[in-house]
Amino acid sequence: MDKSFKTYLKHTAKDFHNQSVNPPVVRASTIIFKSMSDIRRTQKKYKKDPRGGFFDYGRQGTSTTHILQKILTKLEESYHVFLTPTGFGSIFLAIFSIVRPGEEIIVADPVYKPTRVLTEDYLKEFNIKTFFYDPKNLETLKKLITKKTKLIFVENPGSNTFEFQDLSKILSIAKKNNIFTAIDNTWATPYFFKPIKLGFDMSIVSATKYYSGHSDVMGGSLAVNKKVFKHVEKTQNVTGLRLGPDDAYLITRGLRTLDVRLDKHQENAKKVAGFLSKNKKVKLLYPYLKNSQNYKMWKKYYSGASGLMGLKIKTKNKNSVIKFVNSLKLFGYGYSWGGFESLALHQSASERGNRAYLDLDKNERMVRLHIGLEDPNDLIKDLKNSLKFVK
Ligand SMILES: *Cc1c(COP(=O)(O)O)cnc(C)c1O
Repeated sequence: MDKSFKTYLKHTAKDFHNQSVNPPVVRASTIIFKSMSDIRRTQKKYKKDPRGGFFDYGRQGTSTTHILQKILTKLEESYHVFLTPTGFGSIFLAIFSIVRPGEEIIVADPVYKPTRVLTEDYLKEFNIKTFFYDPKNLETLKKLITKKTKLIFVENPGSNTFEFQDLSKILSIAKKNNIFTAIDNTWATPYFFKPIKLGFDMSIVSATKYYSGHSDVMGGSLAVNKKVFKHVEKTQNVTGLRLGPDDAYLITRGLRTLDVRLDKHQENAKKVAGFLSKNKKVKLLYPYLKNSQNYKMWKKYYSGASGLMGLKIKTKNKNSVIKFVNSLKLFGYGYSWGGFESLALHQSASERGNRAYLDLDKNERMVRLHIGLEDPNDLIKDLKNSLKFVK
């Protein structure tokens, strides 16, 4: 029977087992075989089909991680999905699978801050040069391409500033110049947008966020097409980036309700955005206002929007913005997002890094909100009470 993905998420364990509803957590380093020839047979099978779930040692994973890979490969509509202990591990794996000393990489200016540190600073030590392009002007991307350019690394929307880019245009520039492409798709997850289907070679999701959904586990996924599979497989083998089975189990458990939660995050975020869009002091960074370029680019590629949004607040009084954030009762102050709960964060200048194309005048402050699964009317009341402090 042809099942919809929503049904598949609820029934996957049945595809693998006929006893418990949920798959067992298989913890292993050593795997015991019947004989030496049995070991060799398994190794041959693995060599022939590295995606088939054949293991001769725990570093390759266990049946628990294999189930998670199967689910995510289906969700991504990709050739394969690699798992890493954190989302950032997947970013590291994507870049180090492709780029070599003497080559260059072009990165979206509003990329996640640790990705910026990795590309801008750390890659230098390997004689790899990084250049940043303006997400709102892809001519800047074209101009940076040289014979040495190996990879274009996109994050969409931009971290904290939420620019939505013309992704097909980026892909066509890359294809024309024979350059690999990667995208950080943590904001939307493949539930709302499938990068590999559109033509990206690699797509990263921090499983720490919406996949797990409960702020209690970390993990990362790197979906790939057939073209880059071998490169990534080789690099993962030598870097030893392995997701543990207990974390894989929790992420699989979170995925059961990914659709239900993301639909609700979207519904709540839209209600909150509706309220915030009426406030004159606030410029909303969320695909909500229909005539904006960001909305058009979101609509072109995405089937939905998640719960993370930014606010630009215009005021000369920075402390009043901090007071606004500090007065929120239902929003926790903390990093990460994608859990069931609402969060707020005032952004300092250093948290933004050396952005070259940041659209922010000196009287504007940035606040990031994650809209959780609480009653949205309570969240709106909380925001209304606290926004009073903005002078
Ligand atoms: C959180 C995050 C990451 C890193 O994920 P971790 O699981 O925290 O390592 C990468 N990209 C984006 C956009 C993120 O928000």
